[in-house]
Amino acid sequence: MALVPLASAQSAKENDKEKIIAIRAGRLIDVVAAKVLVDQTIVIRGERISAVGPGATTKVPDGAELIDLSQATVLPGLIDVHTHLTGNPQLHGYRGLGEADIRAALYGARAARVTLEAGFTSVRNVGASGYGDVALRDAINDGDIVGPRMLVSAYAIGIKGGHCDENLLPPEFDYTGKGVADGPWAARSKVREMVKYGADLIKICASGGVLSKGDEAGAQQYTLEEMKAIVDEAHKLGRKVAAHAHGTSSIRDAILAGVDSIEHASLIDEEGIRLAREKGTYLAMDIYNDDYILQEGEKAGILPESLKKEKEIGQLQRDNFRKAFQGGARMAFGTDAGVYPHGDNAKQFYYMVKYGMTPMQAIQAATINAADLMGWKSKVGSISVGKFADIIAVDGDAAAADALLTRVKFVMKGGAVVRR
Ligand SMILES: [Zn+2]
Repeated sequence: MALVPLASAQSAKENDKEKIIAIRAGRLIDVVAAKVLVDQTIVIRGERISAVGPGATTKVPDGAELIDLSQATVLPGLIDVHTHLTGNPQLHGYRGLGEADIRAALYGARAARVTLEAGFTSVRNVGASGYGDVALRDAINDGDIVGPRMLVSAYAIGIKGGHCDENLLPPEFDYTGKGVADGPWAARSKVREMVKYGADLIKICASGGVLSKGDEAGAQQYTLEEMKAIVDEAHKLGRKVAAHAHGTSSIRDAILAGVDSIEHASLIDEEGIRLAREKGTYLAMDIYNDDYILQEGEKAGILPESLKKEKEIGQLQRDNFRKAFQGGARMAFGTDAGVYPHGDNAKQFYYMVKYGMTPMQAIQAATINAADLMGWKSKVGSISVGKFADIIAVDGDAAAADALLTRVKFVMKGGAVVRR
């Protein structure tokens, strides 16, 4: 028996470019107009959408493969702007110290497939060790493994002893996390280092965190001066900046420094909401994973101090999600996958609706808004002519019942069917 050469993956991709597919959609969610259209036809040539319109008038080219989703709701592939695909949710706290970076990257190959099969056709990975996220992105793009489109940050950058350092080991091990940089010029240099080794965006830790040892989630870490230097350097190099920030002053200073998104935003106040609205800074508030942390965290190795921190800010974050959304801040769907099991990303829709969004607004956060934050608005995020054919489907009316998105039955990425 002969082995199939890897090159065949590439040549299959070449052949797909000629392939024409027509999807019959019973319902189609137009996330741009915030409308549900009925009886639509989508025509796909190769990787991209070439036509979309009413089934009665949209011509299906001769020889097109027909995919019948006339009993389903069809919508753009979902996007999660806050994932850690190399993160294993069973290896929290001290358990994670025994895992090599290269092993985490291989775990990430599985997480990438699971995430895509759950309907998430693009993700932004915000923090990984050993450039595992860079390797995953490249392996997916080269066709070696199956996964979502990725933008990656490599190491998250932060202060010594902060959330983005590694604080589990005693001093005799003399270990400092690879993303640590103190002071404006060291931080600039760290941005350059991440870009040198493949980062598409920069992730920083503006405040303490929940799952780190010895810090306060609400306490500011990077100063305004340091964050201004980071943002200036990153933007100069064409990279956006995502700031992990739970605390009130860290959120304010990160927005003033010009970051593109605030991750978590747990203790955002009226001033922070106003600044985010005025500057157009996206908020990516991970309001599902509290459930996993509190229910499964102890078994998964999460430290008692982290569980205590989660209990203190989890509910406040959900309440502040409602305030921030109603206060006009732009929202992008981000979940912190890797803290909880990969593939469960869509569980967050339930909470976004419970805390003030309509199902359509929650879907917009995970499609058109997320694409905008990633700088990919012309490529993905809606079912529009010229964009990649990243398309999913669920039974029933997804725009009326958010829970359906946890049961995606059809996934296409770039014209290739991943799940049906
Ligand atoms: Zn995270």
